[in-house]
Amino acid sequence: MPLAQRHMPPQDSAAAPPAAPRRAKKFAAAATRSAIPVEDGSLYVARTKVQPQLAHGTFRRIKWVLLVVALGVYYLVPFLRWHRGEGEPSQAVLLDLDKGRFYFFSIELWPQDVTYVMGLLILAALILFLMTAVAGRVWCGYLCPQTVWTDLFLVVERMIEGDRRERLKLDAAPWSMEKIALRTMKHAIWLLIAWWTGGAWVLYFADAPTLVVRLATFQAPPVAYAAILTLTATTYLLAGHMREQVCTYMCPWPRIQAALTDEHAYAILYREERGEPRISAKKTDGLRAAGQPAGDCVDCFACVTVCPAGIDIRDGLQMDSIQCGLCIDACDTTMGKLGRPTGLISYDTEANRRSRAAGHGPVSRIVRPRTILYAALVAGVGGFMLYSLLTRTFTGVSVLHDRNPQFVTLSDGSVRNGYTLRIANKRPAARAFALDVEGVGGARVEVVGGTPDALPVPADSTEEFRILVFAPPGLEAPAIPLTFRIVDAASGEDATAHDHFKAR
Ligand code: SF4
Repeated sequence: MPLAQRHMPPQDSAAAPPAAPRRAKKFAAAATRSAIPVEDGSLYVARTKVQPQLAHGTFRRIKWVLLVVALGVYYLVPFLRWHRGEGEPSQAVLLDLDKGRFYFFSIELWPQDVTYVMGLLILAALILFLMTAVAGRVWCGYLCPQTVWTDLFLVVERMIEGDRRERLKLDAAPWSMEKIALRTMKHAIWLLIAWWTGGAWVLYFADAPTLVVRLATFQAPPVAYAAILTLTATTYLLAGHMREQVCTYMCPWPRIQAALTDEHAYAILYREERGEPRISAKKTDGLRAAGQPAGDCVDCFACVTVCPAGIDIRDGLQMDSIQCGLCIDACDTTMGKLGRPTGLISYDTEANRRSRAAGHGPVSRIVRPRTILYAALVAGVGGFMLYSLLTRTFTGVSVLHDRNPQFVTLSDGSVRNGYTLRIANKRPAARAFALDVEGVGGARVEVVGGTPDALPVPADSTEEFRILVFAPPGLEAPAIPLTFRIVDAASGEDATAHDHFKAR
């Protein structure tokens, strides 16, 4: 279906507001993207600016809490300190690109540990799948950075320009000194937030307090300023200007989630069977007394005006809906004022909706094959990650055989092979490792410029050693598997690397 048609209001008389058509038209034109006329058959629909009204209620409160937590975590985590020992970074969460380390409190990941990062990404994706299978787009409505930052920018907009009604008036008003001042102030604060958002991002890549000073004194590397500038621009554009368009047109998640949900996944739904036909509150009692149908929806458009995506949830489940729950708050407020039961718009499932329409009770259940599968995958991957993290070694060794010459036959008939050994010491203290080789009978090992009994490796680093292995004369096979074993004498921790001994 063309986008233009997708946004058109339903044409059937039951869905169209019969009680107050002029008011409905006015609201629709001013508040939603669902009433944009497309007269030339074009697939392109010009954007109508969405000016959501502030909602009050449970879901708004949940969103406030999550907003504060999410922003608090993002802006403050770089300043959390974590003592790791002398010479080690004291930032709790740090991605040190120079050193190639990722620090997360007591966990330190090396480039070789990239599998943990991949595992974490897979785990995050599986958790998102599970959340979606149970409760639909909760990520979009409550936790997605686009949602959180747009909410933050709306707070600023409301503080400066007022709520929806005042903002609409300001939009329509001609340019004046007051309008210029308000707009300037709003955009300045938006830019400040966007700049701080970019600034907070780079603090994850270097010691935060030090980098703040270097940034302020223009001594930080140019790449830091470039990153801040890029993130300032994208935050300002995405959260300040593009808002719901990012979710509707740019984000792939609404398209992907269709494959992850089914009719038993919870979503925000309008209870059509209870709400229709829509009728003004004043006429409801009279109509019902006369045996005429009159639904609970009074067509107040409160659910539409609070929607940050500018949609009408009564048109049914839509891809544009980020499922933030604000329409539930708005409708519950209206129902409360009218003394009617709340829940005309609520979290429910498509299966329940169909069952109710057929006169039956709820049929959906959270525990079903899809959710069991996702939960099992989350538990499996999470358990494996935890196990491998707890049992991972802090010692690593790799070996590289000399390419040329591959072997040297000495005057006494013995054979010598050369190798480069790299030992990784992932502990925050210097260690010495004893080296031994296994696999070739009577083999002897020498370390150029050192001794195999104690190969010193500084704390949290790697060290290369030149190794010579000598085998006695008379080896039969041209290449024999050879194992290099290093042992930390102090802790007994060991690691092995494998190669071959070339005899000819
Ligand atoms: S807020 Fe409730 S009563 Fe008002 S239009 Fe929306 S669904 Fe109908």
